[in-house]
Amino acid sequence: MIKGKRDFYSTVPKMPRVILSKKKTPKLVAEVDEANCTGCQVCVPFCPVDCIEPVAADKYSDVTIPPVHVRYNECIGCRACVRACAQLTWDAIRMVDKAEFEEKHGVTIE
Ligand code: SF4
Ligand code: SF4
Repeated sequence: MIKGKRDFYSTVPKMPRVILSKKKTPKLVAEVDEANCTGCQVCVPFCPVDCIEPVAADKYSDVTIPPVHVRYNECIGCRACVRACAQLTWDAIRMVDKAEFEEKHGVTIE
């Protein structure tokens, strides 16, 4: 059965009314596949802690619209950005196990 418009939008996350801050360390953190991100910024207002932003302007010299990245230490692992990206635009964000993320990037998430 084809989903109706109402069914489709009912699964889109709600935008936060207030910006929160991280209270505890999440098990998963969001990671943007920058090579796959269009830079549309649709995901940005869905983040309840406002930790998604465009990458530094000088990171890529060959793109007109830079992709976004997540300030990983502020992410609370809510998945809102993943759902917003997948359902409204593209599919460029994944939730990654915190320990795997730390090992891959050589960082510590508090
Ligand atoms: S919604 Fe998806 S494609 Fe658009 S900026 Fe966010 S991660 Fe990139
Ligand atoms: S999972 Fe996405 S929306 Fe949720 S806090 Fe992390 S970056 Fe923000």
